[in-house]
Amino acid sequence: MSARSSEASGSRSSSPKHEEANEETQGEGSGPLFSTLPLIPELQKTVLDVGYKNATEIQTQAIPAALEGRDIIGVAKTGSGKTAAFALPILQKWWEDPKPLYACVIAPTRYLSLFLSDLYPLTLPLTLLSELAFQIQKQFEALGANLGVRCCVIIGGVNMMEQAVALAKRPHIVVATPGRLQDHLEHTKGFSLRTLKYLVLDEADRLLDMDFGPILDKILKVLPKERNTFLFSATMTTKVAKLQRASLVNPIKVEVSSKYSTVSTLRQYYLLSPLKQKEVMLAVTVKSLAGQSMIIFTNTVNDTMRLTLLLRALSLSAIPLHSKLSQSNRLGALNKFRSGGRSILIATDVAARGLDIPLVDIVINYGIPQNSKDYIHRVGRTARAGRAGKSITMVTQYDLEFFQRIEKVIGKQMEAWHVDEEQIALMAESVEEAGRAAAIEMRELNMSAGKHGKKRKRDDRGGRRDEMDRDDDVIQAGLPRKRRKSHQR
Ligand code: ADP
Ligand code: MG
Repeated sequence: MSARSSEASGSRSSSPKHEEANEETQGEGSGPLFSTLPLIPELQKTVLDVGYKNATEIQTQAIPAALEGRDIIGVAKTGSGKTAAFALPILQKWWEDPKPLYACVIAPTRYLSLFLSDLYPLTLPLTLLSELAFQIQKQFEALGANLGVRCCVIIGGVNMMEQAVALAKRPHIVVATPGRLQDHLEHTKGFSLRTLKYLVLDEADRLLDMDFGPILDKILKVLPKERNTFLFSATMTTKVAKLQRASLVNPIKVEVSSKYSTVSTLRQYYLLSPLKQKEVMLAVTVKSLAGQSMIIFTNTVNDTMRLTLLLRALSLSAIPLHSKLSQSNRLGALNKFRSGGRSILIATDVAARGLDIPLVDIVINYGIPQNSKDYIHRVGRTARAGRAGKSITMVTQYDLEFFQRIEKVIGKQMEAWHVDEEQIALMAESVEEAGRAAAIEMRELNMSAGKHGKKRKRDDRGGRRDEMDRDDDVIQAGLPRKRRKSHQR
C-alpha cells in the first residue's frame, strides 16, 4: 500500500520499492481504521453509521493534511472514496464554525460529462458522471447527518427560480456545476460566495482542462482569496499552468497509484476448503446462491468440464466455456448464458479473456487464480458500475501462497465465506455420487475425443488452433503468441 505524498511544486516522488504492493483497493477502505484519523467523535460515529471501517488510501492521506489547513491535489482512481476524503475534513471544519455558504463543490456538468465519457471511456462510468453532483450531495448529507448540515445542488437543466429560493435559505454546502453556478453568481440577487471557506473542484482534471476554463476563471474571481482549495481527480494530466487557475497555496499532492484495483461495491470472500471437500463446498455454496447469476472460474479445461457435469448431475444448470471449444461454440455458450437460459457459467481464464463476458452477481474462483492479474480480471466480472457483487475464492491447503499474494496486491484482507456445515453433511453423498457420474461421462468424452486424437493434432498446427486460442492474442496485444505445451487452460 502506498499513497505518495509530495509537494506539488517539488520534484516527483521516487517510485515505490515494491511495485506489487503499490496498489489501491477502491472504496472499501483497506487503510487504517477511521478511528485512527483525527476526526471528531460526531464524524467518527457517522462514518461507522454509513458503514465505513477502514479509510481508503486517499482518505488516509488527504484528511489529516486538509485538517491541518493545507490545500490539496488528490489523485486516486474512480471509486476510491475521494468524496469522503474532502467531505469529512470540510464537515469537521464547518462544525467548528457552522456558517452558511461555507463550502462549494464544483463538478463537471451532465452534458459535457456525457461527451467527455467518450473521450475518457475508462475513467468514469456514465452512471457516475450523470449524477455526480447529486452523489456528492448525498455523501455530504450522509456524512453530516449527525451535524445537521444543509446542502443544496445547483445544476443546469433545473428551474433557476427554485434554485434561487434554495440558495436564499443559505445552505452550508453548495454542490454545483460551473455554468449554473456562474449564472446564479451573476443573476441571483443576494447570492454570493464571499464567505466561502472551502472550494472543491471534483474531477478537477476535466474542470480545468476543458471548456470549463473561462467559466471557472469567472467564478474564481468572485471567491475570497482566503480560502482552502481542494482539487480531486481520477487522473491529473492538467498542466501546472492550468492548475494555477485554481490559485492553490502551497498545495500538498496526494497521489494513490493503482495498477490493479477492485471496486468498492465488490465484497471479496475466501472460502477455506480442504482439497477433499472442495466439490461439496462448491456445490453447497452454489445452491445457497441459487437464482443469482455467477461465473465459476477454474484453472483447467478438465475442471471446467468436470464441474459442469457434476453440477448438472445435481440439477444445477451450468454451461462450460473453455479453450477447447471452438470460437463459435464459445460464443454459443455465452449467448445461452446471457439470455438467461443458464445462470451458471464455468470458465477458464483463457476462454474468458477477450470475449464479451456478461456481468454477473457472483464470481467464484474454484481454482485459485495463478496470478493476481487474473484475479482482478476475474472478479471484474461483477460489481460493475456501482452495482454490488461478490467474489468467493476457494482456498485449499495448497493455495495459501497464491492467496496471500492476491491479498497483497488488492491491498486488503478478504472476508471469510461461511458454508453451512449441516448442508455439507447433507449434500456430501449426493455430490460424491454426482462426481462419480461426472467422472464416467468425462471418460466417455475423452474416449470419443481420443478417437479423433490424431486428427486433432494435425488440426492443432492449422487454423483450428488459431481459433481455439484466439482470445490469447487479445491479452497479449500484439506480442507473438506463445505456444503452450502443457497446461492448456
Ligand atoms: P470517487 O469519488 O473516488 O470515485 P466515491 O467518493 O464516489 O469515489 O466513493 C465510492 C464509493 O465508496 C461510495 O459508495 C462511498 O460511499 C464508498 N466509500 C468511500 N469511502 C469508503 C470507505 N472508507 N469504506 C467503505 N466505503 C467507502
Ligand atoms: Mg468522485
